[in-house]
Amino acid sequence: MARPSKKSTSAGAPRSGGKVASQRVADLAAASRILAAQGVVDGFGHVSMRHPAAPDRYLMARSLAPALVTPKDILEYDLDSNPCDAAGRGSFLERFIHGEIYKTRADVMAVVHSHSPSVIPFGLVDVPMRAMFHNAAFLAAGVPVFDIREKFGATDLLVSDGAKGVALAEIVGQHDVALMRAHGSVACGPSLEAAVFRAVYTEVNARVQHWTIALGDGAPISALDLDEGRLADAVNLTAATRAWNLWRTMVRGQVKW
Ligand SMILES: [Zn+2]
Repeated sequence: MARPSKKSTSAGAPRSGGKVASQRVADLAAASRILAAQGVVDGFGHVSMRHPAAPDRYLMARSLAPALVTPKDILEYDLDSNPCDAAGRGSFLERFIHGEIYKTRADVMAVVHSHSPSVIPFGLVDVPMRAMFHNAAFLAAGVPVFDIREKFGATDLLVSDGAKGVALAEIVGQHDVALMRAHGSVACGPSLEAAVFRAVYTEVNARVQHWTIALGDGAPISALDLDEGRLADAVNLTAATRAWNLWRTMVRGQVKW
């Protein structure tokens, strides 16, 4: 196992945590394209993965539309979101979302940030997102909303530095998903596959909740309760592999194994 080093190179960039298997790098590039294909990200949004051997490093694409990411676009960062070897490649402005969540959550191995549209209304009105069906069981534990103006006043809404990332990570807390008012959401997971699954089903759940609210016309909603959420999520974390295999196969021609 590679030993992560806190030491910096002479150029001031953090040292790499070590080489990552090319298949895993390809999987991360594929995850970007999967999220685009599933309507979770468009020209914007990003997915990261903690370095498998160095917990104080993570991997994420250079600043690029997710549907265009290839393995050679994947960069490595320290948890302050400094690139180890950018080689002239640009970084996402909002990479601090990822680094700060990895700092506070040792269990999180992957993070998705998106502006998936069906989710956004739940950050704008006082209607909590709830788990409408078993695939979205991870939402039953509650979905907090990060309002950037509470600490930072009027901003461009972007989590574009470490302080804003810290504030977001505090709101995420131990949850798997958090909304960002007038912006988007984050989804976390114990694996790349789980984080992608949760990002996809957060968007699907939002649509189902909109339909349910309209259909119910004020009637109580029989969403999953906390216990049902916990039980169903345990199954999902294994079943997510099936969804991942399907989605990974669908982008196989774009990002080879
Ligand atoms: Zn964003």
